Amino acid sequence: MTFAARLTFENIFHSYGNGAATLDGVSLSAEPGEVLCLLGPSGSGKTTLLRIAAGIEAQTRGRVLLNDREIAGPNVFLSPEKRSIGLVFQDFALFPHLTILDNVRFGLTALSGAETMDEARLALSRVGLEHHAGSYPHILSGGEQQRVALARALAPRPAVLLLDEPFSGLDSRLKDSVRAETLAILRQSRATAIVVTHDAEEAMRMGDRIALLKDGRLKQLGPAEELFQAPSDLFVAGFFSELNLFRARVRSGRAETPLGVFDAHGLPDGADISVAVRLSGIEAHENDGDVEARVISRRFLGETEALEFAVAGADNPVRARMRRGALASQARDVWLTARRSDVLMFERGGESA
Ligand code: ADP
Ligand code: MG
Repeated sequence: MTFAARLTFENIFHSYGNGAATLDGVSLSAEPGEVLCLLGPSGSGKTTLLRIAAGIEAQTRGRVLLNDREIAGPNVFLSPEKRSIGLVFQDFALFPHLTILDNVRFGLTALSGAETMDEARLALSRVGLEHHAGSYPHILSGGEQQRVALARALAPRPAVLLLDEPFSGLDSRLKDSVRAETLAILRQSRATAIVVTHDAEEAMRMGDRIALLKDGRLKQLGPAEELFQAPSDLFVAGFFSELNLFRARVRSGRAETPLGVFDAHGLPDGADISVAVRLSGIEAHENDGDVEARVISRRFLGETEALEFAVAGADNPVRARMRRGALASQARDVWLTARRSDVLMFERGGESA
């Protein structure tokens, strides 16, 4: 077992040569033994950052460090096999003509034949697939193939493991269990892990901390609760929750919106702000609440229900997500209340959702 290491990106810039910046000054560290989720929309630079860490892409500027040792930068460029960093590709990248055992052995080039056999079997047993050593990839399920890819990356006992959208190819019903198994294996291996995803819920399920990227820039880094409860801007807020948006101006420390008047604590008087109200933060009752509304539409979604309301002063229908049965099915004219903890405010200008 290797000791977990800290992986640090120091002011990383990158472009693929067409001039556009893929990564624009990214600095972050994954702490020893931590599972860090790298979250962001498609095209935000997540895969590129992993490729730079793994050594299959070189940054234009900045440094990558393993503990305090520079592994890529102005002075050094260690080849991928010298970095002690494993990478699990998005499509698993198993060799179809090699057995499962040989697929796992593939990552162990530094060892002699007999040793690779033992190490590969050990790695397979850690993901619970010893019995498939002699099988070929095509007979395995998607979840099992993902575990083989994980075993192959773990076999050389890397200090850091990078996983690029490891669950995106899986059936949604499989995802939960494969995710839980993968997390358990990562914890057992004690490796530092960076898991890439574009799904905020997945990041919250997997990550000790989450780093959110947008257009090659780090927007916010912290525990899930922090990004959810105290998002640094509207983009971060919108990535974690569905929002109703209103524009308002702060007057006497308060902001007036169609859903009520809210304390604008901290924002200066006269500021032009966006007020974001989480869909899940709106309650509807037949007899009391803050503002009058009329039900426009309701859609049954199983545990929850999606509703739209007409509210005076709102240009668009106000959307809400409520527990099924929370509002009587015949309700038409109702009262809405927005919970203050689900109301977020940001100064406008520069940043947009
Ligand atoms: P993500 O993994 O977050 O979807 P990527 O790192 O794959 O983002 O891509 C970031 C940006 O770089 C995108 O605009 C993408 O089109 C571009 N890009 C990715 N790979 C290449 C490449 N090999 N050549 C040129 N542009 C690329
Ligand atoms: Mg990608």
